[in-house]
Amino acid sequence: MDSEKNIKQKPGISRRSFLKTAGAIGAVGALASMANIPGVTDQKEVYAVTTHDTFPVELSEDFKRFDFKNVVFMRGFWDPKIQPIAQVQQAKFSNQMPPAGNPGYTEIDAALNQAAWAIHDSASPKSAYGIPAAGPLMAWDVPSNSRKYTFSDPEEASRIVKRAARFLGASLVGICDYDERWVYSHWYNPFEAQSIPVQFPFEPKSVIVIALEMNYEGIKTAPSLLESAAAGNEYSNMSGVSHKVATFLRQLGYKAANCGNDTALSVPLAIAAGLGEMSRMGMVITREYGPRVRLCKVFTDLELKADKPISFGVKEFCKSCLKCADSCPGEAISRDKEPSFDTYNISNHAGVKKWCVDAEKCYQFWADNGGDCGSCIASCPYNKIDEWHHKLSRAFAETPARSLLRYLDDAFGYGKVGNEQLAIDFWKK
Ligand code: SF4
Ligand code: SF4
Repeated sequence: MDSEKNIKQKPGISRRSFLKTAGAIGAVGALASMANIPGVTDQKEVYAVTTHDTFPVELSEDFKRFDFKNVVFMRGFWDPKIQPIAQVQQAKFSNQMPPAGNPGYTEIDAALNQAAWAIHDSASPKSAYGIPAAGPLMAWDVPSNSRKYTFSDPEEASRIVKRAARFLGASLVGICDYDERWVYSHWYNPFEAQSIPVQFPFEPKSVIVIALEMNYEGIKTAPSLLESAAAGNEYSNMSGVSHKVATFLRQLGYKAANCGNDTALSVPLAIAAGLGEMSRMGMVITREYGPRVRLCKVFTDLELKADKPISFGVKEFCKSCLKCADSCPGEAISRDKEPSFDTYNISNHAGVKKWCVDAEKCYQFWADNGGDCGSCIASCPYNKIDEWHHKLSRAFAETPARSLLRYLDDAFGYGKVGNEQLAIDFWKK
């Protein structure tokens, strides 16, 4: 994984931050000593990140590629069970109906949400619906330079491509080998009610997986329209950044196919590319931003050196944390102790040992809410920013004492969702 970090101005240390951190350190020390927890004092166990040579999630023998037709949004086009939910959700989300009017749902919040999604909606509107190569920023039929640049080896190629991707707007970038298992078996054309096999116009060798940080202040207001705006901003950026990275590869004489949500499952690709670890809420948890990222990817015929999948204790922590499940207004997140092969419905990818989210319940809440939601992301103790007391939490999360993290988050008031004051405060910044 690219370890290069955004260079940000060091934030000032407020008295409030200091007290929070001092309190956190005191609480951790006291609790750790009471519980005699290894890792708090054992420096060797701090930053316990493990790399894996193979994909770190178990697949069943009858594993099959996922068909995009079964994504809950697509079921809104063909499944009578989901169609009424989709109609309400679409009418509210596209601002055809007036917003509720309370903080987080005002006309101003709704306008910001529409503005954040604008580039996505004009340049790649079908990407979110799984349709590949649709829209000016997502087109694949773009010729590559006839002069092909030769890298000395795949390692050099990876280093250069990652540097370019970071410069072009990626918050994080990782690379994995092409693996057909994560490519959708079909995409669905809702206008002709047709399932079409996903095919690339060239033979991909590598996948560049890009994570884009979502705005912390917006996500904090979940499940309001300001949270939807934070997600929409990065949907818009997914189109632009993936298009720029594909253009870089094409200018060097290689073929490239950029994708948002379409074409392939982003979460397993991000795991394979070493960007983070699987979680209870179904999102990838990154070390830098937790689940507060959107993902896009670029398939290329350039051979790149792949990163290795990592784990840093997320799965173990998710077993006891459950904060996303407790915060989920749709009661859609599994509360099972262990990941399993159990599924809720056809919108889950069967054959993958994980915690599932009930997408039908989640989507019902989106329709009721009028925006999307993101309460799971906002509540997660891994959702941290680049401030020093948050960095301390992140470091702590990579020790075996991480089981205290939820306690500390709750004690300091982090990750509380549905707080209207946060939506009011958003506009005062
Ligand atoms: S987006 Fe909201 S409703 Fe859906 S799983 Fe997350 S918390 Fe639950
Ligand atoms: S909130 Fe807790 S249980 Fe849910 S994904 Fe984050 S760490 Fe895991």
